[in-house]
Amino acid sequence: SKDCDSIEDDGQAILVQRTEGAGSQQESDPLSGHTKSRNPRVLSIDILKAGILQCNRTYLSKAITLIESNSAKHFNQAQDLIKELQPFSGNSIRIGITGVPGAGKSTFIEAFGLWLIERGHRVAVLAIDPSSSVSKGSILGDKTRMEGLSRHPRSFIRPSPSGGILGGVARKTRETIILCEAAGYDIILVETIGVGQSEISVRSMVDFFVLMQIAGAGDELQGIKKGIMELADLLVVNKADGSNVQAAKRAQAELNQALHYIQPATSGWKTRAVICSALNRSGLAEVWQNISAFLELTDRTGQFALRRQTQIAQWFESMIEETLIRKFYDNEKIKPIYPQFRSKVLTGEIAPAAAVAKLFELVD
Ligand code: GDP
Repeated sequence: SKDCDSIEDDGQAILVQRTEGAGSQQESDPLSGHTKSRNPRVLSIDILKAGILQCNRTYLSKAITLIESNSAKHFNQAQDLIKELQPFSGNSIRIGITGVPGAGKSTFIEAFGLWLIERGHRVAVLAIDPSSSVSKGSILGDKTRMEGLSRHPRSFIRPSPSGGILGGVARKTRETIILCEAAGYDIILVETIGVGQSEISVRSMVDFFVLMQIAGAGDELQGIKKGIMELADLLVVNKADGSNVQAAKRAQAELNQALHYIQPATSGWKTRAVICSALNRSGLAEVWQNISAFLELTDRTGQFALRRQTQIAQWFESMIEETLIRKFYDNEKIKPIYPQFRSKVLTGEIAPAAAVAKLFELVD
């Protein structure tokens, strides 16, 4: 990973210096709030790019805000930036982490993230939370849950983009991964909560997928019913501490048993269950050993590269879908009459299919 510890988050020097040569980009101010000072300063794409490549977290945050914006102008600017940074991306291990609320994901990410940093890595934590438009960001919203990690200069924590359809949130997370990699983060942890759709979405953007479980109260089989176990490369039974150690070991054995009947998520790799205590920071090395073995194996078999290829195809396809949807709703002919059509469909005055056909006659 890059050695960027010396770079301050402030970045004023880079900002002023580069702006001089980038005057022509002044109209394309990607983010507001930088024109108030005596020397009007504008963050151009070039400046954001330079800042990110120097591991500047402030610029990285600003660029992610650009990605998260729903305005068409920002969308185009964000795409330009991603195009610029794509050549510097890809050099990380992308790890997805899921599990029911309370399983200990945040505690684990805090512990595991710091453990990785101690071993020389730079860790970015992102989240996908499809419920966040309702719950106002239930995961990662509370940074105090990852206090040590969030304060560490070699980490970067970004809560879930809120609002919008899951497809949009997924696209934004994928693009954020690119930016984080360009900024030198070599471990990307993507957290999600156990609500089916979002797990499938995270699986489609990570190399390795962890399902976090807890023992006790007949909860050993969480995830089995929802088919999430089939997506996992590793099951981690958390809270294996104190009086809970035996229960955790039993859960581990039961899960390993159940895994015999499940097709592994990654061809050639045997998904297994391990135990850990995020609280006591035990079992972290074993989690990492599994990830390392997985990387070694999938590199050798070509599965790693194949999955990344497939994921690029999925990204492409989901962007086509997102673009189609946006084009439709933003269409000047559709916009004014859409509400009418919708209410006519609701009252039964017109059948859904007929309404759709009529609306699409207006789109070229
Ligand atoms: P999340 O909702 O999955 O992110 O779960 P949290 O990380 O917020 O943890 C939920 C609760 O479980 C908190 O009270 C944690 O302190 C506790 N917890 C997390 N990990 C462990 C662990 O390894 N052992 C024990 N005993 N408690 C834990």
